[in-house]
Order: sequence, then C-alpha cells, then structure tokens
Amino acid sequence: MKAEIIAVGSELLLGQITNTNAKFISSKLAGIGIDVYYQTVVGDNPARLDEVIDIARKRADILIFTGGLGPTKDDMTKETISKHIDTTLVSDKEALRYIQQYFERSGRVMTDNNKKQALVFKGATVLANRKGMAPGMAVEHEGVRYILLPGPPHEMEPMFRDEVIPYLLGATGNKDVITSRVLKFYGIGEAELEFRIQSILEKQTNPTIAPLATADAVTLRLTAKGRSADEALQLITPVEAEIRAVVGEFIFGIDDETLSSKAAKLLIQNGWTIAAAESLTAGLFMAELANEPGIGSSLAGGMVVYNEQMKIAQLDIDHTLLDEFGIVSEECAAALAVNIQRKFGTDIGVGLTGAAGPSPHDGEPVGTVWIGICFKEEEPVTYKLLLSGSRNANRLRAARFALYYLIQQLDEK
Ligand code: ATP
Repeated sequence: MKAEIIAVGSELLLGQITNTNAKFISSKLAGIGIDVYYQTVVGDNPARLDEVIDIARKRADILIFTGGLGPTKDDMTKETISKHIDTTLVSDKEALRYIQQYFERSGRVMTDNNKKQALVFKGATVLANRKGMAPGMAVEHEGVRYILLPGPPHEMEPMFRDEVIPYLLGATGNKDVITSRVLKFYGIGEAELEFRIQSILEKQTNPTIAPLATADAVTLRLTAKGRSADEALQLITPVEAEIRAVVGEFIFGIDDETLSSKAAKLLIQNGWTIAAAESLTAGLFMAELANEPGIGSSLAGGMVVYNEQMKIAQLDIDHTLLDEFGIVSEECAAALAVNIQRKFGTDIGVGLTGAAGPSPHDGEPVGTVWIGICFKEEEPVTYKLLLSGSRNANRLRAARFALYYLIQQLDEK
C-alpha cells in the first residue's frame, strides 16, 4: 500500500507554519509498513485541491488530508473531496452531539456554521475527535481510501494514533503486530554507520533497518512484523546484537532516549553527583543535563570560567600549566575536571575547553575541543574533538560529546 499525505492550508505555503503533520504521519505510516512516496501541500483553494486529488489518486492507494475541516469559509477540504468522489455530506449525530456538548461545557454560544463540522461523507467511517470539534473521516472510492483529518496537531495526532492506525491495519488486512526498536548513535556520521553495517543492511528483511540522521543523533530503526509483540521482538534481538558487535561503541541509548536523558538516568540511578567547569560551552553542558527532571539530586552545579584569569582565580588552574600547554589543551581540560570535582565535592567532574571559532584560540585551530572527565580519586580521562561547524554548532556539539563520553564512562562503572 502506498499513501500520499496532502496538507491543506495557505499558511503552510506562506511559510507561517511548518508542516509537522506530514512529518508525524509519515513516521507513523513507516512504523506500520505503509510507504509514502509523496507529500503535497496545497492552499485553501478548491480548484487547486481538486487538481492535487486528481494526481494523487492515480499514484497512491491512500490519500491522507490534514486541515480545512473547520467551520469557516476557507475550510473547504470536505466539500471539495465530496464533489470529487461524488458523495453527499450528511450530519453525523454523534459528532453533532459532541460539538453541542463542547459548547455547553465551555459556556459559549454555538453558531450555525459550527454544525458544518458535524458533516461527514455518507457511509464514511467517522474518526472521533477527542481534543476538538471536527471529526475525521475515512471513505473508500474506486479503490482509493480518502482519510480526512483536522489540521491542529494536538487534535490530529491522537486521532491518528487511536483511530487511523487501527483503521489502516484493518484496511490492509494486516493482523501482524509491528514492533520497532530505535538504536541511537553519537560520534559517528550516518554515512560511516551505513558503510560499517553494510552487510547487515543488505540482508535486511524482517526486521527492516532504517537509518536516519537528526540534529542530535543518528538512529537506526529496526522494525519487525510478527504474530505477537514478543515474536516481533525476538526477530529484532539477534539483528540488534549483530549491529552492536560492529558499532556498539557509538550506541548511547534506545528508543526515546536522548544524550541528556540517558546521562541523567545513569547518574540518578547510581546516586552519582556531578559538577562541570565550562569554558567554550559556557554552561551548555549543564543546561543540557538540567533539561532532565530529577537531575537535582545529581547535578550539584558548576562554573563558567571563560577567560584565563577566572580559570586561575576561581578554579586554581596553575598558570604555569596554561603557559606551557595553552588553554585549549588536554592538560587544561583535565585540570578543569579535577579541580571542579574537588571544589564541589562531587563524585564526578567534567571540564570543557576549546576553540569554538570563528578564529583560532590560543594557537589552536577552530573546532579543537578538549573534554576532561574525572571520577573522585581517579586519574582524569580526556578526549579530543576536531569539529567543523559554525561557532555555536561547535559549542553545542562539544556539550553533547561531553554527555556522550560521560555515558560511556558511567556505563563502564
Ligand atoms: P480548525 O477547526 O482549527 O480550523 P482545521 O481542520 O480547519 O481546524 P486548519 O484551519 O487548516 O485546520 O488549521 C488549523 C491550525 O492547525 C493551523 O492554524 C495550524 O496551527 C495547524 N495546522 C494546520 N495544518 C498543519 C500542518 N500540516 N502541520 C502543522 N500544523 C498544522
């Protein structure tokens, strides 16, 4: 089965909003094995929407529309499709009652055009809207399924999960259970990852393996079909093990885990406390950790020691060390980590120093970063990065690499 997502709304074409609906729907369809070959955006214009439908129905089995189900004049998705597939609109009792109750609850007056929202195609499967008023609907016409969903993501997303996915699984006659596991990588690019696991990728069938690069991680989604969730998971397990054997050192987490959530989880679970001394990142490392609820029991605090004097005055970094090795050096990162750990009395200290750019810093080329991690009464470990992004991309990547190395260290404990 092939699906096409058609987002309706002039705001999308004017660049006022981002088409997050298409992203959401595509990822959910991928999860149930339905291919999306095209995503289309069209304004609130019946003639142009009609043209889009004409093209889409020839190249897809399922057309999923979002937007234009509301009560106002420019909301014309339903009317246009009903003409296109030659069906009539009828008022759905259940939906109308829900809309009336919605107005009663909120103490607002219901106007006549709100009744328009309860209109659905004759014979359609009505998709309940638990977060708003306009119901969605699904109908089949000449072998093509038309699914209409509201525009607001907070209405569309739960409707998609609770109503559309079961409808599609029924429509495709697919009784299999689909289970996914996402492996999250850091410190390796998508191209290198694919290269290294090429032989595993080439023989993929069930599970399928889908690589994806996002701003904060490279991911591999392993999706398997089985007669039960357990059976699907059993198919995933050996393939995951094969992948881990080749590139396991770059895997920091699974599924929804992020670098900060994984680091926070390990710190909190083990009752470890941490402090950071940040130069080029100026607090970004701690800010990433502070995104995580409950981190207060582990994150003691830290210091931004941006210039040389503050490194010396506030953290007792030996000025002879800085003179000899420089600020952007292994020695400086290690000293920052050790001294902040001692000063704050924590289990772990992290130090970050580097040349973010745009010009070299202390003789070191742009993108050079040193990270130090020190566990109480142990020798510090250090890592060197050579980054190639813009100033702020380098700063953020330095903070994220520090989280990644911290996870590796914590995993080994
Ligand atoms: P309403 O009843 O709110 O009018 P609707 O189904 O008619 O809902 P639209 O009027 O097209 O939907 O869009 C309402 C709002 O939903 C938009 O202003 C926008 O905030 C959001 N929205 C619409 N389409 C998308 C999309 N493709 N991606 C993300 N957000 C969207």
